Amino acid sequence: MAAANRILAGYGVLDAFGHVSARHPDDPGRFLISRSRAPELVTVADLMVLDLDCNPVEGDTRTPYLERFIHGEIYRTRPDVTAIVHSHAPAVIPFAASSVPLRPIYHMAGFLGRGAPVFDIRSRFGPTDLLVRNHDHGRALAEALGESDVALMRGHGYVAVAAGIPMAVYRAIYTQMNADLQQRAIALGGSVTYLVPEESALTVPVQELTIMRPWELWKRKV
Ligand code: MN
Repeated sequence: MAAANRILAGYGVLDAFGHVSARHPDDPGRFLISRSRAPELVTVADLMVLDLDCNPVEGDTRTPYLERFIHGEIYRTRPDVTAIVHSHAPAVIPFAASSVPLRPIYHMAGFLGRGAPVFDIRSRFGPTDLLVRNHDHGRALAEALGESDVALMRGHGYVAVAAGIPMAVYRAIYTQMNADLQQRAIALGGSVTYLVPEESALTVPVQELTIMRPWELWKRKV
């Protein structure tokens, strides 16, 4: 978890804001997440344990992240998910604001072929400060995510989910890279060819097979 925080900061997926969490390995009704702190500074000592109501357990009185409800409600809705990244990475923001959908432009982001739905908090809750501040906001985001690996958040950022911390980190990084590359391809002005769903589906098992290679490298670098 400490490595995941620092890796994501190194790739610009997280800056002073955003967070990564992991379901507790011994209790699926709890999750680990840093106290409210910039991810690049996070160490093991900063990790808190929260229950799915997003309350700190064991009398921990440190300040948790305001948007912890993103994590609690997705863990509640998706038993298959054991790690979540929430990011404001700039390259992704245009696709959350535009009618142009984020689509897989290369094999590294083939997981986007399972969809990258846009969650617009205003459509359900009216004008807000855009933050996922409570259970209702978190539940609405989890509903928008559905069975996808990524959901974009209009005017805000995105979430990437996976079974396992390395894969959640991978998806968060390559969602940002795909968004950057897709904007470049669109800017060239011609027609853009994306992966078809069959190609996307074929890339996902390869990513699962090779995930420990980038993970080893990323950990070494931080
Ligand atoms: Mn946020």
